[in-house]
Amino acid sequence: MKNVLILGVNGFIGSSLAWKILKKTDWNVVGVDLSDGKIPHCLKSERFVFHRKNVVDDADFIDAEIRKCDVVVPLVAIATPSLYVKDPLRVFNLDFESNLLIVKKCVEYKKRIVFPSTSEVYGMCPDKDFDEYESNLVLGPVAKERWIYSCIKQMLDRVIWAYGKHEGLSFTLFRPFNFIGPKLDDIKAPKEGSSRVLTQFAHNIINGKPIKLVDGGLQKRAFTFIDDGVECLLKILENKNGCAEGRIFNIGNPYEEYSIKALADILIESFMEYPEYAERARSVKIENVSSKDYYGEGYQDVSRRMPSVKRAEDELGWKPSTNLRRAIKLTLDYHLLGKDYELETGGAQQ
Ligand code: UDP
Repeated sequence: MKNVLILGVNGFIGSSLAWKILKKTDWNVVGVDLSDGKIPHCLKSERFVFHRKNVVDDADFIDAEIRKCDVVVPLVAIATPSLYVKDPLRVFNLDFESNLLIVKKCVEYKKRIVFPSTSEVYGMCPDKDFDEYESNLVLGPVAKERWIYSCIKQMLDRVIWAYGKHEGLSFTLFRPFNFIGPKLDDIKAPKEGSSRVLTQFAHNIINGKPIKLVDGGLQKRAFTFIDDGVECLLKILENKNGCAEGRIFNIGNPYEEYSIKALADILIESFMEYPEYAERARSVKIENVSSKDYYGEGYQDVSRRMPSVKRAEDELGWKPSTNLRRAIKLTLDYHLLGKDYELETGGAQQ
């Protein structure tokens, strides 16, 4: 039995992870967040305690919670590319400064930390797929502010690694590759660029706005369904025979790589399956926009981001199993029909 502390439990990964833990294990979860809109089902569990708090404001509270738990999963961070460019200092304050304090508490109280690194750390690495221990981390110039997030996460990775090697910190670093799913971003958020690509495109189709392909949409991503992602996190938390101890794992789906343009086409096709939205999908316009116009001067794109998941497959015994079309269907079922796969028997499985 474990006591897991999830900071940012109402986020995309946190909400799904908390539910997965409650459903599949006998562990207790303490969740901290500013709001609880994504976790109504968790709140009903007697193994779940929720605290409505801002991790940044209440250091004494966080200190006490870290002391009490066995493992900390600190998921509070800004992870939206447009904000790296628009508000890099906010990203630094939250993603770096706040999380560094939490890392240090874990060192002090000898608690295990399962920390979210990011696929962004690989930056513009030219490798055909990115390996956790072999690939170089390639960032652009300082004036390209997009890289602040990548750089922050890389620094925290290195700090956690060093605490692990030199001061005995028990840790695992994980790197999510374009996780998608129902609770990714607020689909109603009106501002262009305020969400990740799938939510943005879906929002535009629903609201009769054109889909914008940044620089032609030839850049590629490997899309990972959230349920596959948190299944891997569960294995990391289980840490059977220490398999995840002191390790770094990419969590991605290399079998589902698509260009952004192909993503737009598949999404439009998927919308056609919902009679109420079929006409909007049929008539949606696709426009090209330059990255400079869409994100501003400080942006630089990643043309290809492909994980190697060999280590997660071999060392954790995990493999992603949800393809992009199925991931999109489950996401649209949630937004358009109010159906939540997490609450259905069988979960994401067909
Ligand atoms: N993108 C796009 N149109 C949009 C939003 C994003 O073409 O309306 C592109 C963006 O330039 C990037 C890709 O889609 O190449 C994925 O963007 P996302 O924000 O999901 O995150 P990233 O994978 O870049 O971290």
